[in-house]
Amino acid sequence: MNPMNTNTVIFTDLDGTLLEHDTYSSKMVMPLVAGLNKAGVAIVFCSSKTKAEQEVYRKKLCIASPFIVEDGGAIFISKGYFPLFRKYHRVTRDYQVIELGISYREIRRILKKVREENNLAIYGFGDMNTAQIASLTGLNMAQAKLAKKREYEETLNLTGSDEEIKFVLSKIEESGLSWSRGGRFYSVTGGSNKGKATEILVGLFNQKLGGIKTIGVGDSLNDVPMLAAVDVPVLVQKPGNYWEKIELPRLYKVSGVGPQGWVQAIKELTGI
Ligand SMILES: [Mg+2]
Repeated sequence: MNPMNTNTVIFTDLDGTLLEHDTYSSKMVMPLVAGLNKAGVAIVFCSSKTKAEQEVYRKKLCIASPFIVEDGGAIFISKGYFPLFRKYHRVTRDYQVIELGISYREIRRILKKVREENNLAIYGFGDMNTAQIASLTGLNMAQAKLAKKREYEETLNLTGSDEEIKFVLSKIEESGLSWSRGGRFYSVTGGSNKGKATEILVGLFNQKLGGIKTIGVGDSLNDVPMLAAVDVPVLVQKPGNYWEKIELPRLYKVSGVGPQGWVQAIKELTGI
């Protein structure tokens, strides 16, 4: 074991970053993740995916670290992971939960009001059945079912001209909700984002381990708050070998699409 790495924490986006954009496969990162697990490097998922979706990949990759769901809507922490911290908002059978966003139900209620008042076609995962989500995302039916289990964020499939989309987003902002752009869709939350959740976990890891070194890896605009909250921000490429237009101090733009870039950057930065 390399003792240098036990204080390293990697915050990572999933879709288009750790997972392959089209297939959602984690195959490419599996050997490196096994090496990181062995070396004691914590890998924290920070994704717009739901708790149910992320649990599948946690199991597959043998990851026990806390994870950030639905673009920062909540942090799920295995019981006893941070023994000194006690201010949780709720406790489930397996997790202690820090909630940062308002409920999905409340977001849906506000979006419905925005839709009706402005006569807009704003439709999200909550308005679609599993088959519709599967065909839109490329997820299989079982995965799409888990993607529908939303608690803190609505995913919108906005279509139309740039101007029309801009108008919809301005009305969403006026309603007090916030939005961000992922690899495929627009996400709407009640003020939470990946950065706030990352900052909280950086604090908790520092309390637990002391003097941690943080790496963040993402591919899209909704990753910017997370990337701004870590020591070493890494941007992987999108399919077609280009980077999202993101400017941040010390941003490492790695050549490599999604998981290919992930593997290259993490190997370089950790020496594993
Ligand atoms: Mg992404």
